[in-house]
Amino acid sequence: MEATLTAKDYKSDLKPIWCPGCGDFGVVGAIYRALAAIGRPSHEIAFVSGIGCSSRIPGYTTAYGFNSVHGRALPIAQGIKLANPDLLVLAAGGDGDGFSIGGGHVPHCIRRNIDLTYIVMDNQVYGLTKGQLSPTSPRGLRTVTSPFGSFEAPVNPLLSVLAYGAGFVAQGTPADIGGLATLVEQAIRYPGFAFVNVISPCVTYGSPESQMKTHKAAMRDLGTLGHDPADRLAAMELAQEYGRTLHTGVFYRREPAEPTYEMLARERQRALSGEARPRELILDGFRPR
Ligand code: SF4
Ligand code: MG
Repeated sequence: MEATLTAKDYKSDLKPIWCPGCGDFGVVGAIYRALAAIGRPSHEIAFVSGIGCSSRIPGYTTAYGFNSVHGRALPIAQGIKLANPDLLVLAAGGDGDGFSIGGGHVPHCIRRNIDLTYIVMDNQVYGLTKGQLSPTSPRGLRTVTSPFGSFEAPVNPLLSVLAYGAGFVAQGTPADIGGLATLVEQAIRYPGFAFVNVISPCVTYGSPESQMKTHKAAMRDLGTLGHDPADRLAAMELAQEYGRTLHTGVFYRREPAEPTYEMLARERQRALSGEARPRELILDGFRPR
């Protein structure tokens, strides 16, 4: 009989060095719970990150971890998944890592539809380098690099990934760790690329309007609002509220899920070795020639 794994089985001995009260504590807590609900042992999980405060997260779990290069969590995670499709692959990082220096990787990872879960801890500021404007900083935010308030419109992570064609898109906050854990679990279970944007407060450099207490009062649960996650256009409409309304829940879930890149690659291999007949293949383009 297999032993049941609990959240604490995924917690490493490394003590987080985040500032006391940082939202990322809640995010890692939610990830422990989600992994326990999935029940895969740590040696079957690969967790990749870029650079930033939030990118320390793999080290705080018992999964195989790779705290990689700034903005490059997605290419590395994709390589790992393709080399070993049986691994459960998670990628994580901050808003700067994911939507500034790593922003070019996001559409390509999504259009390949590799089965991995990408969690962005979006605090709308660069925390590790002491509080500069990030790509998701709201207009008007005063930081060390925008002493008169930001003149730039922020990137909208939700709308971007929906437009690029992600099959699963959700948003949560560590102000509701239970709800966030459920979203991460659903994202992991989704058979294809899944994106979870986590509005995770930076207590040291973040906007005073985006802190845990305000999140608790501001959260608007998409389920309670009657949103149908199968409706992509409605999801895009709601995503336009990014930065104004803190919607939590699943924005979009494509059903049925499309075949993943690694599934097609495996098929191609089977077809080439003569194991599969053409009519068993998903796409005509993958028939052996
Ligand atoms: Fe968290 Fe901000 Fe501190 Fe970084 S600087 S650990 S994001 S509170
Ligand atoms: Mg950030």
